[in-house]
Amino acid sequence: MRYRVLFLLVVIMAILSCQHNNELTGPSPNVIIIFMDDLGYADVGCYGHPTIETPNIDRLAREGQQWTSFYTASSVCSPSRGALLTGRYPIRIGLAGDHQRVFFPNSIGGLPTEEITIAEILKEQGYSTGIIGKWHLGHLLRYLPTEQGFDYYYGIPYSNDMDGVKWSLETLLTDTPDINMWNVPLMENEEIIERPADQFTITKRYTKKAMEFITKHREDPFFLYMPHSMVHTPLFASEEFQETSRRGQFGDVMAEVDWSVGQIMNTLEELDIDDNTLIVFTSDNGPWLLMREDGGSAGLLKDGKGTTWEGGMRVPGVFHMPGTVQPGIIHDMGSTLDLMPTIASLTGAQLPDDRILDGFDLMPVLTERQDSPRNHFFYYRKTEIYAARLNEYKAHFITETAYTLEKTRDDLESPLLFQIEEDPGEHFDRSSRYPDIVSEIGDLVEQHQKTVVIKDAEMDRY
Ligand code: MG
Repeated sequence: MRYRVLFLLVVIMAILSCQHNNELTGPSPNVIIIFMDDLGYADVGCYGHPTIETPNIDRLAREGQQWTSFYTASSVCSPSRGALLTGRYPIRIGLAGDHQRVFFPNSIGGLPTEEITIAEILKEQGYSTGIIGKWHLGHLLRYLPTEQGFDYYYGIPYSNDMDGVKWSLETLLTDTPDINMWNVPLMENEEIIERPADQFTITKRYTKKAMEFITKHREDPFFLYMPHSMVHTPLFASEEFQETSRRGQFGDVMAEVDWSVGQIMNTLEELDIDDNTLIVFTSDNGPWLLMREDGGSAGLLKDGKGTTWEGGMRVPGVFHMPGTVQPGIIHDMGSTLDLMPTIASLTGAQLPDDRILDGFDLMPVLTERQDSPRNHFFYYRKTEIYAARLNEYKAHFITETAYTLEKTRDDLESPLLFQIEEDPGEHFDRSSRYPDIVSEIGDLVEQHQKTVVIKDAEMDRY
């Protein structure tokens, strides 16, 4: 009898303590990362574009935080994606080679499976994990998202201009786009379900799948990674968005992406989980300037995709979670490298402790608008550091423009130095005025390089 009473007491205490815990912590927060392809710093309404309309993304920024010094870890696709998912510079994870910069359909490599992704740490926490969109971290079976912590995959596994019947500027920049010119596959989990993918409806279908995923997992905590195939050229929009924008085909495609963001916000609101869902909106790299009017714009920032000038790596960065993220415009530095530690901090997930991470936990900025813990950033191109930023100064050691036939690489005899907050366009060299800052940044680079063990480049395998 005495034991029975004791047992009952223990059960009651356990139930009470569970309830108490739940009250304190609430249900685990959901995480959605919307990752654009080749969207430039100035291609969103609230980032200053004069003719692109993005009311939904603008609302996301207005209700949340809009970051103005947010960096992607690479100026091209594959390394940028690997760094976001692992919180590590591409050079540490086998995604920085001296030859190819991204994966192609004939590549046999991928993000090494021993790397630990955001999806993997959240899965350990009992999250349902999905990716809808462009993977571009290896398309062979052993490198697919389902091998990297994702329960579900739907999307085009690499860039939408690959598998070209004839890759040329004319076919890319045509006013009458044709899906048959790009023999890209559409995959669901490990299967190819359509080829060539109907790219006209790709944004619409990604959106529908995303809404289904959110609805299906409304009771579980979930992580949805949504790397859009757009606005990478060739540009495709579905019929109702064609010829609707003042900004031409690029604006039409952005209108559809913005609609997609609105659909996701509506779905979260209807399910009453919007307050419990962190949405991050950002881009993999700057605008592909070679694509003329079909490419985006970095606005006042110099150059674009492929370079270590600001236009190649500074991208829109928006965080939204009503009641948790304190609204405001944040001028401090942040990076896609910071997403893994930030998400771990938000969800209680465990970060790997057996390897170097390059990210910082941004939660104090998101929730209390404290100063950002990130005060520096390294601008890698392939295996080399071309530039580095420390607080408001950026030093360039090597410069090179994006994609031209002429050789534009310049190994600078003495570094350039820009006060990047006063001169975000990188026009006025101050290296002779502040030689101490140049050497301080040089020392920082040297210290960082001592921690790097270069892994063989996965994209050089084919
Ligand atoms: Mg890209």
